[in-house]
Amino acid sequence: MLIFLKFSEIFTKTEKVRKVFLNILKKNLESAFERENFKGKVILKRDKFIVEASEYRDFFERIFGIKKILVVNEIDFKDLKDLKKKIKKLMGDKVKGKTFGVRVKRKGKHNFNSLQAEREIGGELVKKGGKVNLDNPSLWVKIEIEENKAYLVEKEIYGAGGFPIGSEGRVLCLVSGGFDSIVASYMIVKRGSGVSFLFFNLGGFTHLKEVTCLLNFFWKRYLYGISPSLFVIDFRPIVEDIRGVVPRSYWGIILKRKMFEVAGEIAKRFGFKAIVTGESLGQVSSQTLDSLYVIDRILKDTMCLRPLIGFDKEEIINLSRKIGTYEISKRVKEYCALVPDKPVTKPDLKKVEEIELLLEKNLISLVIRTMRVINPPYEIEEEDVEIEGVPDGAIKVDIRDKEEREILAFGADLQVPYDEIDNYDFEKGKIYIFFCNYGLFSQEVVLKLRKKGIKAYAYRGGIIRFNSHFLF
Ligand code: ATP
Ligand code: MG
Repeated sequence: MLIFLKFSEIFTKTEKVRKVFLNILKKNLESAFERENFKGKVILKRDKFIVEASEYRDFFERIFGIKKILVVNEIDFKDLKDLKKKIKKLMGDKVKGKTFGVRVKRKGKHNFNSLQAEREIGGELVKKGGKVNLDNPSLWVKIEIEENKAYLVEKEIYGAGGFPIGSEGRVLCLVSGGFDSIVASYMIVKRGSGVSFLFFNLGGFTHLKEVTCLLNFFWKRYLYGISPSLFVIDFRPIVEDIRGVVPRSYWGIILKRKMFEVAGEIAKRFGFKAIVTGESLGQVSSQTLDSLYVIDRILKDTMCLRPLIGFDKEEIINLSRKIGTYEISKRVKEYCALVPDKPVTKPDLKKVEEIELLLEKNLISLVIRTMRVINPPYEIEEEDVEIEGVPDGAIKVDIRDKEEREILAFGADLQVPYDEIDNYDFEKGKIYIFFCNYGLFSQEVVLKLRKKGIKAYAYRGGIIRFNSHFLF
């Protein structure tokens, strides 16, 4: 069996660019074969790839850069008479009692033209009991002729379209797990951008689990040829800070600006040209034109692409169904509790900047410093690293340095500064609860120690939260 893969817009490129694109497409195709455990040989022709294989599988429809897929039957022929005979043998029974039409595309030198071939082949099939109807036949007999070979089309399927992933730079997709952001990611990879993902964790372990599950599905199903990293940032300390000092109606907009600030920083550090979000104009208060304007002002060295800007919610949901992410996104709760009753829809940039001065200065760099990187298949092996209370007999470990301990007191059983964790002998039979100011570094320590078989937990929200429980 042969499978023709016809290129989408790649075709409009210059010879030089096309060559680069096709190399990427070939690499992605081979990656798909490997992942899907598919045996096939790929041959590059001027206008298509030809795959020699023993079966057709639907993953071809998920490879970007392919417009159309034809599953064809190869026929050697001497002349038109010979071809007619062979087509009659293959198609005679299929057209019997049906309306049909013949379409011929031809390349190479022949002593007949395409129209002639269509007519004569059609005539043969009428003898087998078919009825010609060129307006709306129940069956199209499509044949592509190249020199002395004809390819009878058995199946014609639309491909994913777009450009091969990796042909249009690298971008950083902000994913929340909700419907919109993953559809936005789909739209941008469809246009050929390589991606990595950035997730601001607002709901702890459960939220992270849901997002990794979604990304695992998305990566396996669509991202042939790349292995994007997922950057995870614990954003709960920022949320708490905002709740404490920002007027309620500004919670949403300022949270979004803080996300963008961090995203811009990471984009710059890792060389992403743009960040990508799932916003659509006017969908919610933080997506009005005024809000988007104020949000974008925080970006310095990167731009924000919003592939869904003109989509209705219903269109986005339909797309998520088509892509297959609907069911998983539906399970993801809206974790952000920062949705006040009356959010601003026309925020003023100056006022927003003034309010932001109230926020803790070093928190942004702190959450970036404790960023976690997870690679495909995005499986997180550990159980929840956080704990809310301190079980009987557990040892409270303060991992802050001396300076921090002096600023904020905490009655720990043990003090092992962060930098000395590797050298300290933790005992296997005991339970350790780790504490730092916000509970960020403690999570890192716990992950490390659990790999060594130590029973360790990070106190959720850190010392600031622990102390507040005892104060109020
Ligand atoms: P979504 O369906 O993608 O969650 P939404 O309709 O809930 O979007 P917002 O909460 O305003 O809308 O988020 C707008 C965009 O900001 C999201 O599409 C996503 O790109 C980004 N974003 C929001 N929350 C997060 C998060 N926790 N982590 C990473 N990106 C986020
Ligand atoms: Mg959301």
